[in-house]
Amino acid sequence: MLLRMLSRRRILPLGLLLFVAATAIPAAQDTAWLEPYREPVAKILAAATKDDFAWQRLAYLTDTFGNRLSGSQALTDAIEWAAAEMARDKLDTVRKDPVKVPHWVRGAESLEVTSPHHLRLPVLGLGLSVGTPSEGIEADALVVDSFLALEQRASEARGKIVVFNEPFKGYGPTVAYRVNGASQAAEAGALAVLVRSVGLDGLRTLHTGMLTYREGVPKIPAAAISGEDADRLTRMAARGERIRLKLTMGAEMLPDADSANVIGEIRGREKPEEIVVVGGHFDSWDVGAGATDDGGGAVAAWEVARLLKTLDLKPRRTIRVVLFTNEENGLRGGLDYRDRYRADLSRHVLMIESDAGVFAPIGFGLSGNETVRSQVTAIASLLAPVGATHVAATGGGADIGPSITAGRMPAMSLDVDGAKYFLIHHTDADTVDKIHPADLAKCAGALAAMAYVVADMPQRLGETTGTR
Ligand SMILES: [Zn+2]
Repeated sequence: MLLRMLSRRRILPLGLLLFVAATAIPAAQDTAWLEPYREPVAKILAAATKDDFAWQRLAYLTDTFGNRLSGSQALTDAIEWAAAEMARDKLDTVRKDPVKVPHWVRGAESLEVTSPHHLRLPVLGLGLSVGTPSEGIEADALVVDSFLALEQRASEARGKIVVFNEPFKGYGPTVAYRVNGASQAAEAGALAVLVRSVGLDGLRTLHTGMLTYREGVPKIPAAAISGEDADRLTRMAARGERIRLKLTMGAEMLPDADSANVIGEIRGREKPEEIVVVGGHFDSWDVGAGATDDGGGAVAAWEVARLLKTLDLKPRRTIRVVLFTNEENGLRGGLDYRDRYRADLSRHVLMIESDAGVFAPIGFGLSGNETVRSQVTAIASLLAPVGATHVAATGGGADIGPSITAGRMPAMSLDVDGAKYFLIHHTDADTVDKIHPADLAKCAGALAAMAYVVADMPQRLGETTGTR
C-alpha cells in the first residue's frame, strides 16, 4: 500500500523501491535455516524438563557447601566439586582457570539502641566494609531519607551515625545508597552509616551487598538494617527523640585468596575455535545459601553442556560453560576471563549470562545488531514450550561485561519472572526452596536450546545464510 502511494506520487522509481524493500526487510525473515532445528530443540526442551536433575544438583550444592563468599573454604570446595562433577558429566574439556580474589570476612556484628531505651536490632554489615574498633562505635543517630536530606543537614552529621531510610524505588536507583552511602556520610563527618536494606520489604529481612569507598574520603563502617527498623528509627526521630546507637563490626580484609573460574566445554565438531559462552557466577554472599544468586544461574548454564552431552548433540562450534568466581565483590572472574581469552574474543560468537534468578523464564535480553536480533528472535520462537520467547532490547551481565566491551560480540542474559528476586536478594532467605524445580529446568532448557542453535547454525550469528 505505502509503496504504491510512494511510486504513484512519483517520489521514487519502482526499481529503487523494490531494492529498498528488499534491504529494509531483514534477511532474517528467511528462516529456512531454522527448520532443521525444530526437532533437536524439542528434544533438548523435553530432556531438560523431564526431571528435576538441575534442582537436585543445585540442592546438593547449596545444602552441602552453603553460601560461597570469595576467599571462603566453602567456595574453594564447591569449585573442586563442580570441576569433578563436570568430568563425571563427561564434558569434552574441564579446567579451572586460577583467579586471585579479594578475601573479605564479616566477623561478629551487633547493633544496639542505647538511648532512649536499650534495644538490640538485627544488623548485617555491607560487603567490603571496614570494621569498628572492638569496643564498637557509639554515637547519636541522624536519620535521613535521601542524599539530598543529608546534604541539607550536613552540619548535624559530624560525629554521628547516619541512618539512610531511603524507600525502595527499584534496585537500580536504590542501590546507590548501599554502594555510596558510606562515603557520602563520611564526607559530612559521620562515624558510621546504617542503610535500609536494599530490596523489597520482607519479614525484617536484612540485605547485604557490596559498597564502594570513594578515593580520599575516610572509610567508615557501614551496615544494613531492616526496613521495619529503619521506619522505627524514622518515627522515633520524628517524635524528636534523641537516639543513641552502638554499632560493632568485626569486618576485615584479608590478603587476596586463590580461587578459579570453572570451565566446561563441548568442543565444536567443525569450527571448534568459534565459541558460544554460557555462564553464571559460582560465588555468593555469606548469607543464605546463594541459591537464587547465583547458584541457580550457574547450574542452569552448566546444564547446557550436560544436556547436550546426554543427547549426544555436537554443535559446529564450541559451547563453553563458565562458572565465574567473585562476581559479588570484585568481578575478578569476569576480568580474568577477558584478559585470559582476549586473543580469542573475536571468535566469540555470543556470550550469555544467567544472573537474574531462575524463576519461570520469559526469554532473553539481547544486545546485538538487527540481523542478530532477528536470528535470536527466530530461535526464541521455538522456545514457546518453556515460555522463553521474548527477546528484550538489551542483554548482558556483570561477568561477561568486560569481555563484551573488549570483544563487542553479541551479549545475552536469561530473563525470568523477577517478581520475587529482590525479596530474597543477598539475604538469609536465599535458599533452594525458593526455586521451583520446573522453573529451573525450563531455564536450563531455554539456555541449552538457544546456545545449541547458535553454536550449530550454518552461518555465524549476525551473518546471513551462506556468507561463510
Ligand atoms: Zn548475582
